[in-house]
Amino acid sequence: MIGAGELVYEYPGKRALDSVSFLLPAASITALVGPNGAGKTTLLRCIAGLDEPYSGSIEIAGIDVLRHPREAHRHIGYLPDHFGLYAELSTRQCLLHAGRSRGLGGEALDARVVEVATQLGIVDKLDDKAGSLSRGQRQRLAIAQAIVHRPSVLLLDEPASGLDPESRAGLSELMRRLRSEGMTLIVSSHILAELEEYCTGMLVLQQGRVVEHRLLEQQTAQGTGRMIRLRLA
Ligand code: ATP
Repeated sequence: MIGAGELVYEYPGKRALDSVSFLLPAASITALVGPNGAGKTTLLRCIAGLDEPYSGSIEIAGIDVLRHPREAHRHIGYLPDHFGLYAELSTRQCLLHAGRSRGLGGEALDARVVEVATQLGIVDKLDDKAGSLSRGQRQRLAIAQAIVHRPSVLLLDEPASGLDPESRAGLSELMRRLRSEGMTLIVSSHILAELEEYCTGMLVLQQGRVVEHRLLEQQTAQGTGRMIRLRLA
């Protein structure tokens, strides 16, 4: 479960998040939507512990993120909108590096690298340089890096941008799978249609405020369902 209470974040002269509150269930996919400048990236960065809110609270798996950032960090994976990869490193080296930066090592990390690469469908690319991968494969590698430490929460900032339809379909299938394994995802986009088919809820931001929070009533086999309104702020 992820909760935020009365979250406020300010850049100099600009309030980017204004009293943002929500509660998201575990093993869910929440679409974070809103126009340019709505505050989506700022919200994800605050949850990831990269930006410190001016006031308010964030809780993940019972941990107060702002009071115990290091402990909370272990539960969070984050994919920024413009992620970078070490182009000269192999996929395996990238994943080993990501794992070590999260305190993993030894044979357990070697095994985890193969496991996560298999999960993300890039196990046949382990010895290829990251720079030689396609856009969709790079995206998968970046997500693999973000989940190598088995976080319970995954934050994805506009992961579908720049992907062709096939890669987008692969991404949505991947998100469904991660959710079915118990992960809680928040995925930002400008375009709701991109996320509608697989999200279980939707959080709409406008000018730093939550203007709508909806939950999908029931996911059907196709991943679509009827939207019900939970709260209109
Ligand atoms: P987009 O969809 O364009 O990525 P967003 O919803 O992710 O937008 P944010 O990037 O979180 O929005 O920006 C929220 C507000 O904060 C915007 O008005 C933006 O101009 C402002 N902002 C973002 N970064 C900074 C910064 N470093 N300094 C000052 N203002 C900023």
